Amino acid sequence: MSEHGQMLSDVGADVVLVRSVEQLTGLDGLVLPGGESTAIAHLLETSGLRPAIDRSIADGLSVFGTCAGLILLSSKILDGRSDQWSFSALPVSVRRNGYGRQIASFETTVAVQGVGEVPGVFIRAPKIEAWSQEIEVLAEHDHGDGEHPVLVRYENVWGCSFHPELTGDRRVHGLFVDSL
Ligand code: GLN
Repeated sequence: MSEHGQMLSDVGADVVLVRSVEQLTGLDGLVLPGGESTAIAHLLETSGLRPAIDRSIADGLSVFGTCAGLILLSSKILDGRSDQWSFSALPVSVRRNGYGRQIASFETTVAVQGVGEVPGVFIRAPKIEAWSQEIEVLAEHDHGDGEHPVLVRYENVWGCSFHPELTGDRRVHGLFVDSL
């Protein structure tokens, strides 16, 4: 099972690894994982999942995008490929690799509202550079250029710059699953 799958299962969710449109039926929540956003976008197109997920989000399905998943949900992508699309479900502008490239990947501690301090693993992470006042900022991080949101929520759409699935701390997944 994927790291996200393991975490979600550890906090009590029944987990399905979604690879086809049919598997979206009946879900309470969906996690869009990290990786390479252009590659994930391509897979979402070829599998037919793009329009299905688009509809599900509009119908209120809770989605949680981490890292590349956050990029896929954002309303604006900076430094994206020229043809890069997104679901445009979260009113934030993200810069791909906004915290630097591979060499600049880092681990820090992030204070999450209602949870406390959790480890934050940032890997070629997207930086939220602009955001609507309507989003709920659940955690921010100052990487030397002021506070930027790193865990946000807007209605049924959650996004996270870091990788909560790569640590032993399940509380961010718990927060999402408890909201479902
Ligand atoms: N930099 C990657 C991208 O732009 C995201 C990195 C990640 O998901 N760890 O797609």
